[in-house]
Amino acid sequence: MKTSHFPIFTLKDIPSEAELISHKLMIKSGIVRQLSSGLYTWLPLGHRILEKIKKIIREEMNSIGSTEITMPLIQPAELWKESGRWDEYGPELLRINDRHEREYCFGPTFEEVITDLIRKEVSSYKQLPINLFQISTKFRDEIRPRFGVMRAREFVMKDSYSFHNNEECLNNAYKNYAAAYEKIFKRLMLDFTTVEADSGNIGGNESHEFHVIADTGEDDLLLDKSSQGMNFEIAKTKYGENDLQKIIKENDLKHVKGIEVGHIFKLGDKYSSKMKAEITTKESKKINLLMGCYGIGVSRIVAAAIEQNNDDKGIIWPSSISPFDIALIEIDGHKDKSIRDFTTTIYKKMKELNIDVIYDDRDSKLGSKLTDWELIGIPTLAIIGSKEVKNNVVTLKNRIKDTKIEITIENLLDKFL
Ligand code: ATP
Ligand code: MG
Repeated sequence: MKTSHFPIFTLKDIPSEAELISHKLMIKSGIVRQLSSGLYTWLPLGHRILEKIKKIIREEMNSIGSTEITMPLIQPAELWKESGRWDEYGPELLRINDRHEREYCFGPTFEEVITDLIRKEVSSYKQLPINLFQISTKFRDEIRPRFGVMRAREFVMKDSYSFHNNEECLNNAYKNYAAAYEKIFKRLMLDFTTVEADSGNIGGNESHEFHVIADTGEDDLLLDKSSQGMNFEIAKTKYGENDLQKIIKENDLKHVKGIEVGHIFKLGDKYSSKMKAEITTKESKKINLLMGCYGIGVSRIVAAAIEQNNDDKGIIWPSSISPFDIALIEIDGHKDKSIRDFTTTIYKKMKELNIDVIYDDRDSKLGSKLTDWELIGIPTLAIIGSKEVKNNVVTLKNRIKDTKIEITIENLLDKFL
């Protein structure tokens, strides 16, 4: 990719309306722009980051046998009336009428739609278990959209659903999803913890949340010495507010803040019983399907990763989700053909090797190019000017260590193989 085909929308100043560092840096570095309250356009850089996160999630979902589908964003009210959530869900559910005055809503979550699909397609225990997922836009009319994409109204979520004919099978799937989530958050290089959680208005009997640890998080968590966490609200209910003080002290529990990036639920027959999603067992008995659901806040992860990885120059991307692995920064390439040719040769070799490279071929000063790429947070910058061309090297700048070294092209390419 060359900047001549990949517009960079960095800003000089930090927007005053943004409170969180992630929100400020996402706007300043040109990852998102706000369209309206809680609605964001993902610019080319942001789009690439989202795609990298989605790829990791897809790989881990596929590895536990979950298969991708796509469901419509607009959902008919009848299904929500069947489950009882048309009345329960409240004003976060954005309701609309079509031209025939039929009622619909924008999907905040998809339990009803998927249960309807499965009850129509699956009738026998022989067809189970079934594990499906989608990565799509969800809409929740949040009362206070804030912190940029952290709490948006329209956001990207990965949601999986599993269907079973017995508890043991559901329990196994739940364990597999929990393990896959741990792998996903490790691959995303996030400092996170898993906590026992409340199942909220999604419902069900067992539930865990995955939290990125950050002082700016909205959730209160208790961590033990091995970093095993517990949701503060759950701890209060479990031990009572008075005893909880005592318990924190006796076990030395640490109070930290978390950003919820994933949530899994054992739903059991909560939806299947209301929506009559039944199957026939081996013994020719009709039973309600058992169900699990598993969400990841894809767009929220972008903000959470920035909360954990930034400095006074800008973002420092974990290598697994950096929009590019390396930026080639030429000095005066537009004036000096030898510099442009040298950089182009390296660029082409990198493309052949499938290295995720951005070639900054803009006609601007080295200082402003460096400021941009350090703000954007690319892990490795390769600077190429007349000195480098003469010595047949590039100058490598490491974003985290802030070191500069000269390196031959062969050694540079070897680093990525
Ligand atoms: P929260 O408690 O933060 O409002 P939730 O518990 O209502 O979230 P879930 O129904 O568990 O959310 O949805 C699954 C995931 O989707 C969450 O773990 C979170 O990462 C993400 N998510 C939920 N609401 C939003 C939002 N308004 N903006 C961005 N991501 C969100
Ligand atoms: Mg949740």
